[in-house]
Formats: sequence, structure tokens, C-alpha cells
Amino acid sequence: MQLSPDRLEQARQDYEHHLRACRQCGVDGAHCPVAKHLRRLYNLARVGR
Ligand SMILES: [Zn+2]
Repeated sequence: MQLSPDRLEQARQDYEHHLRACRQCGVDGAHCPVAKHLRRLYNLARVGR
């Protein structure tokens, strides 16, 4: 598998967009399961080989 910078960037944007769009994530900085999932995907993309 090949790591694409675009893919990493896409994962980051998905995560950040969710934090702004999601009501629950906006309240306390308490991240909902979706945010955790997106952040995990981002971390995997970043660390991925
Ligand atoms: Zn959320």
C-alpha cells in the first residue's frame, strides 16, 4: 500500500470539518465516536507506511 499525501490531507480535513460541523464535538470539546473514528483514520494515515 502506498501512502498518498492527498489521502492524509483528506483525512485531516474530514476530521477538522467534523469538529466544526458536529454539535456534540462543538460543545465541550467532548468528541463523539465519529470524531474518534475520524481521528484514528487520520493517525493511521499519518503513521501508515
Ligand atoms: Zn462529532
